[in-house]
Amino acid sequence: MPAQTYLFPCLKDNFGVLLHDPQSGATAAIDAPEAAAVEAALQKTGWKLTDILVTHHHADHTQGIAELKEHHHCRVVAPRNEAKRIAHVDATIGEGETARVGGIEGKVIDTPGHTAGHISYFFPADKLAFVGDTLFSIGCGRVIEGNPEMMWQSLLKLRNLPDDTKFYCGHEYTAANIRFAKTIEPDNKALAARADEVARLLAAGKATIPATIGAEKADNPFLRADLPEVAKAVGLAGSPAWKVFAEIRERKNKF
Ligand code: ZN
Ligand code: FE
Repeated sequence: MPAQTYLFPCLKDNFGVLLHDPQSGATAAIDAPEAAAVEAALQKTGWKLTDILVTHHHADHTQGIAELKEHHHCRVVAPRNEAKRIAHVDATIGEGETARVGGIEGKVIDTPGHTAGHISYFFPADKLAFVGDTLFSIGCGRVIEGNPEMMWQSLLKLRNLPDDTKFYCGHEYTAANIRFAKTIEPDNKALAARADEVARLLAAGKATIPATIGAEKADNPFLRADLPEVAKAVGLAGSPAWKVFAEIRERKNKF
């Protein structure tokens, strides 16, 4: 039976998401931005929280853990390389290891850069990825603890997932990301089409995610830093991809 997901907005612009295994009844929250919002999502779905899969230590992804664990006695799985910075962790996990939610299996991908130990979760049978603050739709996370080369390598790992992978990210930033992306690739037709789609979704009060990896390859400038036309657009023709990526990230920081 395919896994089910339930996406909900919380805090200012965070996304929460539940991943449910209908066979076993197990349910994971991907990160815990806000306990009350996760509880509301559980009520709405009727699912019982068994696991919390953490992507990184930032408060807007972890501050709901204590309350949820207290209430549900769920198992908290966190990135090994920064588990010390997260409270109430039961198990740590890293690159290539398997995260289990009932009978559903997710592969862990180390995606450092936003934070030094950031991880993402990929569930191959359902082609679902949970990427925290590494990849956003039409954007990527700020490089806070790592460096641009590290972040670029992390993004490449996510770009290598199957094109029809649906990914869930930590924030609703898509509209602002599109405004910026147009400054890098004003003539990108896929980006223009996505901009229309996103405007429609937001006008209808809907979330702009999940998006697919295949679509992002066509419209996310951060995943396109190794294309000659993108290097040229930022005045770095012939430079290594990570330098082009660094320049795009720098411009976005100032945008
Ligand atoms: Zn973060
Ligand atoms: Fe965040």
